[in-house]
Amino acid sequence: MLTKEYPLEASSKKEPYYPINDTKNTALFKTYQDMAEKETIKSGGRLAEYKYYGMHQVIVAALSKTKKLFIEKS
Ligand SMILES: Cc1cc2nc3c(=O)[nH]c(=O)nc-3n(C[C@H](O)[C@H](O)[C@H](O)COP(=O)(O)OP(=O)(O)OC[C@H]3O[C@@H](n4cnc5c(N)ncnc54)[C@H](O)[C@@H]3O)c2cc1C
Repeated sequence: MLTKEYPLEASSKKEPYYPINDTKNTALFKTYQDMAEKETIKSGGRLAEYKYYGMHQVIVAALSKTKKLFIEKS
């Protein structure tokens, strides 16, 4: 079987699967990121970093963050 994947135009009526890194959203994300930096809970991944990640990218980001937080800080 042959399947085809193609992008959809984003709109407010559709499921927001992907981040839209325009000026407004990037500024809002930075505000949340600055607030989150002050918390003791550390988070990562698509939601926390407001980035499009494929599985391979999210795994690299998680390993790199873990190294920075737990190995390099000790
Ligand atoms: C439609 C679609 C197709 C995809 N296809 C591919 C593909 O073919 N190949 C590929 O490599 N990648 C694909 N991806 C991307 C892949 O799914 C992501 O890269 C990966 O899942 C990101 O992992 P994550 O941990 O950042 O986020 P997620 O997997 O989304 O995990 C976030 C978790 O946090 C939980 N959560 C959210 N808010 C809270 C809260 N307040 N408190 C507690 N828990 C919370 C959620 O329930 C969820 O379990 C696809 C993604 C989508 C949406």
